[in-house]
Amino acid sequence: MKQVDQIIKARWIITVDANNIILEDHALLISAGKITGFAANKDVGKTVTAKEITDVSGTHALLPGFVNTHTHAAMNLVRGLADDLNLMDWLQNHIWPTEAKVVSPEFVRAGMRHACAEMLRGGTTCFNDNYFFVDEAAKVVDDIGMRAVLSEAFFIFPVPWSSHYDIGMQRSVDTHNALKGHELIQIALAPHAPYSTDETLMRRVKALSDQYNMLVHMHMHEGKSEVPDYVAKFSARPMQHYENLGLLSSNWINVHMCDCNDADIALLKKHNMSVAHCPESNMKLASGVCPTYQLLQEGVNVTLGTDGAASNNDLDMIGEMRSACFLAKSTTGNPEAISANDALRMATINGARALKLDTRIGSLEIGKDADLSAIDLSSLETQPLYHPVPQIVYAGSRKDISHVWVKGRMLLNNYQLTTIDVNAVLLDVKTWQSKIQSL
Ligand SMILES: [Zn+2]
Repeated sequence: MKQVDQIIKARWIITVDANNIILEDHALLISAGKITGFAANKDVGKTVTAKEITDVSGTHALLPGFVNTHTHAAMNLVRGLADDLNLMDWLQNHIWPTEAKVVSPEFVRAGMRHACAEMLRGGTTCFNDNYFFVDEAAKVVDDIGMRAVLSEAFFIFPVPWSSHYDIGMQRSVDTHNALKGHELIQIALAPHAPYSTDETLMRRVKALSDQYNMLVHMHMHEGKSEVPDYVAKFSARPMQHYENLGLLSSNWINVHMCDCNDADIALLKKHNMSVAHCPESNMKLASGVCPTYQLLQEGVNVTLGTDGAASNNDLDMIGEMRSACFLAKSTTGNPEAISANDALRMATINGARALKLDTRIGSLEIGKDADLSAIDLSSLETQPLYHPVPQIVYAGSRKDISHVWVKGRMLLNNYQLTTIDVNAVLLDVKTWQSKIQSL
């Protein structure tokens, strides 16, 4: 009899492999945090044993953990602070003035812990974050056991907690060096946006990205005025300007791309860059619409992100998949644009590819790390069930995610977080709310 560390028996295993294979009545086998095989449920007890067996074989689907490619995790603490505004009004008159008074290592730790709890409960196992005090963020994520790419936003102007972007750059490099070889966490570089950076800053980012092989995580072509304002100043669109300066590379993750023309698409393809599509944030801020269907047709790697909870207002990747489908269909007039399966690939393997982690995560295949979730599809809201993937995308809820594993470690066990004390998080959040309300 074969011995493995863990067996997870499921009704469906949605592999998201190259052929989108869905195994029915199968078990996933895990050893040393990696997927080592699959076996039919009816045979598994006769041929394989394990110390840890999770049996959700009657009702649940297993799917790869979601990879959320754009977050500002600590902004969970300002969720709902200012809504129904345009991007610049929201940023300049509400978010930035509040952040100026509260952002600190303590704020980042509390917000990060809250966001990780929310993400894990919704089936997200990996996220690409962009905020401040990246060293503090890394400590929290390491403590929780999630997988993440973390970065610190760089601006040309001083912010109350950082007089110059040099400080954040140094902290990013130091944290990158300190985490060398870490199995779950890596550090990226995050110039904030074309309108909040300059050529000198961007050249520094390029040099550091080349030197340390770090990803570049940047808001690009987001709001309606961003590109026209930039063209008026530099006679080129931001992406074209960066191309002219020799800054672009496959390390880039371009967040939003609501304003995206054929020349931008050619550059995305030329440099094999990824796009992080954040449909709900873009809809809420009325920023515009990323042409995801066209990008996928052209072979560009399109991923999904929630953006921060202040502009969304949740970190729900199932909701984001649904929104990505509906937004693409309604704006192209084509009901075949972005299928449920396309959205699931964007939320998993495409995200992994953008983070250069696709040989390790993003699908359930032998040899990959066991980053996955189990979702209960037996509830009234998801019955009857003809096809599991469209059911999850169009009728599923993050509240039906019952189990989550990262590298084989169970971080959500029957709806209970195993490494986060939810009551302590809620208490902490209440304290921060009082502080923010008394400003
Ligand atoms: Zn953002």
